[in-house]
Amino acid sequence: MSNEIRVRFAPSPTGYLHVGSLRTALYNYLYARKTGGKFILRIEDTDQNRFVKDAVENLLKTLQSLNIDFDEGPQNGGEFGPYFQSERTDIYRKYVDELIAKDAAYPCFCTKEDLQKMREQQKKRGEDFHYDGRCRDLSTKEAEERIANGEKYVVRLKVPKNGECTFYDLVRDKVSIPWKMVDDQVLLKSDGFPTYHLANVVDDHLMRITHVIRGEEWLSSVPKHLFLYDAFGWKPSKMCHLPLLLNSDKSKLSKRQGDVAVEDFLKKGYLKETLINFVALLGWHAKGNKEIYDLNELIKDFSLKRLNKSGAVFDLDKLNWMNKQYLHKLDIDEIAKRAKTFFQEAGYHLEKTEHLKELVEVARQRITTLDEISAFAAPFFKGLEISENDRKILRTDNSQILLKFWLENIQSAKTIDENLINKLLKRSGKELGIKGKHLYPPLRIALYGKPHGPELPTIIDILGKEKVLQRLEKQIKEK
Ligand code: GLU
Repeated sequence: MSNEIRVRFAPSPTGYLHVGSLRTALYNYLYARKTGGKFILRIEDTDQNRFVKDAVENLLKTLQSLNIDFDEGPQNGGEFGPYFQSERTDIYRKYVDELIAKDAAYPCFCTKEDLQKMREQQKKRGEDFHYDGRCRDLSTKEAEERIANGEKYVVRLKVPKNGECTFYDLVRDKVSIPWKMVDDQVLLKSDGFPTYHLANVVDDHLMRITHVIRGEEWLSSVPKHLFLYDAFGWKPSKMCHLPLLLNSDKSKLSKRQGDVAVEDFLKKGYLKETLINFVALLGWHAKGNKEIYDLNELIKDFSLKRLNKSGAVFDLDKLNWMNKQYLHKLDIDEIAKRAKTFFQEAGYHLEKTEHLKELVEVARQRITTLDEISAFAAPFFKGLEISENDRKILRTDNSQILLKFWLENIQSAKTIDENLINKLLKRSGKELGIKGKHLYPPLRIALYGKPHGPELPTIIDILGKEKVLQRLEKQIKEK
């Protein structure tokens, strides 16, 4: 058999891509690309109750926009498909029969009411709910008769009752879980659909997955999975469970969609480069202190050996810091292209591409997320909102003299360019004696609405002569 590494991302499409799922997808992707292996996307959609319309398209779109691509999956196919579990239900049945024949699983006829009673009794005794095994030892004859009589049933895993399951995890090393903590898990539901555990193991085997890289919340499922591998006589994949993601207060990362959905971060103007870089560092670090990595550098440096055991804190301040780094670092044309979407959303239209670039160049020094660019640009497109304090600045004698001087000179100028603006700035100092903080803030407030912001030549260039004159005039009290 080939030694090719095969890893998979196996999401259950529940509506949006959680940052934790992005991390799982990314680490699998990086490992596949690093080792020259294959990266497979398998959609685990057997739980019809959790099915959310458009969730798969949404997921694919988000991963695509982050440049995470697959070698096999629903979009590009592959020799181990189909890659939707809901299209593989026929495959699982024969494995269930095999497990029953091997006494590794059994049909269970307990009804919802039976289970409810069981749950209540266990609760009274202060126990966590677990199946008490009452159908474990039904004779084959009885079970077959009840099935033939049309009684509804599920199939459960017959896990050992004593001892413990010991295995090696690439992050946690040796792990032991007592079998008594492992429930007789349902493998096949009464509607004939497999549960996650069965479908996941069968598919990992059939799809020749060599490494299972996923979140720590699945660690406690490993005994069930290894039990299945063993019952089938299959070689298990290597296990690699990624550390939990935590809020800053060390609690488990919030599940509120707005806080953790990758698409929401993108909509808020976090750059895809930032998200990839930031998420890559949630549980992995290379040697040294390097923090800024593009995707290719990550592929080069990534290794499963350097995954952390302890939980990774999702630090919003760090995410913001990193986004600023990328806003500075990325090519101006690229940022301008992306900024356009935010302008369009706000209904702002800039005639000249150079203006867009000028604006973005200034804005990116000051904003944290790209969506802030529309607020930054608003003074060019909407009426100015000048604060009372700033109005006071405009009303001083100095400011009034200054504004009149600029109005007259711009009115009479043939061309308004950087040269002229610089000359006027100098002349304001020489002829009017107005300099520094008495010069720039009043002009900016009159033209842009705020004392700080883009350079005056940029503001004037973007506004154009007519608007400049209108705005200056508006602030001059007596003409
Ligand atoms: N479908 C599971 C999930 O939604 C996959 C877990 C695994 O990778 O085995 O996370």
